[in-house]
Amino acid sequence: MTRSWLEANGLLDECDECQVGLVTDERMQLHCGPSGHPERPARLLEILAQLELSGLRASCARVVSREAIDEELLTVHSEKHIEKVMKAESAVKKKGKAYALPFGPDTYVNEQTPLCARLSAGCLLSLVDTCMTPSSHVKCGMAIIRPPGHHAAAEKASGFCMFNNVAVAARHLQREHGLERVAIVDWDVHHGNGTNDIFAEDESVLFISLHRYDSQGFFPGTGFLEDAGKSTARGYNVNVPLDKAFGDYDVFHIMRYVISPLLTKFEPEAILVSSGFDAVRGDPLGQCKVSPEGYGWMTRCLYRMAKHFCQSRLFLALEGGYNPDMIAQCTVECMQALIAEAHGLAAPQEADESSLLPPAPSPGPSLPATPCMGPADQPTCEPSGSLLFGGETPSGTPTSTPRMGPRSPGSPPASPSGGPKKGRGPLNKTLRTVRKLTELHTLLPLELPLAPQPDGAGGTSKSTKRNERRRCRKTSEEDAGASSDSSGWAIASGGDLDGEFLFSPAHRHTRQTSHSSLASHDLPDFELPPLLPMPGVKEPEAVTQVTVAIPDLPASAEGGEQSSTSSPSHATPKASPKASPKASSAQPESKQKSKKKSKRK
Ligand SMILES: [Zn+2]
Repeated sequence: MTRSWLEANGLLDECDECQVGLVTDERMQLHCGPSGHPERPARLLEILAQLELSGLRASCARVVSREAIDEELLTVHSEKHIEKVMKAESAVKKKGKAYALPFGPDTYVNEQTPLCARLSAGCLLSLVDTCMTPSSHVKCGMAIIRPPGHHAAAEKASGFCMFNNVAVAARHLQREHGLERVAIVDWDVHHGNGTNDIFAEDESVLFISLHRYDSQGFFPGTGFLEDAGKSTARGYNVNVPLDKAFGDYDVFHIMRYVISPLLTKFEPEAILVSSGFDAVRGDPLGQCKVSPEGYGWMTRCLYRMAKHFCQSRLFLALEGGYNPDMIAQCTVECMQALIAEAHGLAAPQEADESSLLPPAPSPGPSLPATPCMGPADQPTCEPSGSLLFGGETPSGTPTSTPRMGPRSPGSPPASPSGGPKKGRGPLNKTLRTVRKLTELHTLLPLELPLAPQPDGAGGTSKSTKRNERRRCRKTSEEDAGASSDSSGWAIASGGDLDGEFLFSPAHRHTRQTSHSSLASHDLPDFELPPLLPMPGVKEPEAVTQVTVAIPDLPASAEGGEQSSTSSPSHATPKASPKASPKASSAQPESKQKSKKKSKRK
């Protein structure tokens, strides 16, 4: 979707009725640190440039920025912490440099940091307030903000983050707008440890984080699977620890078996997204393989959940993401996903030459080998690892710049050398993790249904899977004209592209015939959840169905379903849906396993 797509739908420069809000403030570029630091103003600049070029900025409702006030920040942070951030100016002056590092070797401040940190939190609050105003036509949107927030704890800045913007917004939704249940989905490649800890004992906020973990070797080293919250809130923190190089199939699997069923059970009244884009391919820190279109797809999934449960209250807030070109593409995908969904428009047509965004004028070094890590005279990493210096060798010498594999410029990111060679489908480790996670959480208050057993545990042969994919492809082709998914948005893997994804709207046939390089065989299609029935429409069995068909999943007793319209066991609503978390003291605590490990940190 591009400027011409917006124009064709009467959305270009017609933001009066647009349901999607966009908030930012260019002053946030003033927060600036050491030369080459990955969390740099160019991130914001590039995103705004691409939104402008694509026409998306003009098509969205512009939300006025503002600074968060102390009273709002105090709902999450201590007075002492706020004061320390506000004193950045004196810290900088004392150092006699343009920046200081009062929060550790990777988290800088400069004289403008207090303003930018307040703006970063305040912009998201402004978006929330706009969308929560009953008379407003704006229902959802994105805050393009920095510094990021999800590593910031109540009393500590960390990992480039000053204030926990999303946490402050969640509290604001509850205190100022009277919501009881708020969900936070964190898809930044790093664990949102700040948010995790802030809500560890709060069952009114469901926090779901999928992140690279590498057996504690990746910053911040937290977010292990058993960390599920404390006390009566156990079950309301959900951590999905993943390995390096996870990609689209992994996040789709998690969307299907973790995020969608959890949100269905939780019934949020608003959904916030810690929208870091550092799991995108080409990110110098994340080293993963999610595509920009993958983020758009996840946005569409969450929008549909938000539309069903909470009047489309879906608020994305920028977190990390350190390849300016790529995070700009991701933002474009997410914003166009919101617009397409909010306006009930057909999915953007397959990108053709005329609709591609112009090449981004990258202000910094371009991908893939962005040499963006800290200067050589930086101190060593903290014991728990450092976002900047990496956590891959936590007890060894500080890692040098996390590097992308050698790759010729312009070529698509290849599978990481030495990495799994699964061309299609989630990594086996992801399958095992998700299964284990569901085994844990099925015993906790939200009773997450079991995900399928990974391959090997149940044993599905390759030929069986291949045949299954063929069967599903045939079915989807037959159903193409009358898809249950009105968006027709599908995601297909090109057989020759080694796991690269192609995201196509309904016209799969067009794509396959017009691109001879794409193998027409072995194309598993991933479809979004079908549009959910609207509240008020009584469909007791279907109302909580949120299914993403993943045809090449290993068949299993728990989850071998192959069709987006099937009724998987996990989607069957419980006879007695859970009570409001506010009343959760009445929830059966006996369901909680007493043997769970205590939380680290
Ligand atoms: Zn991150």
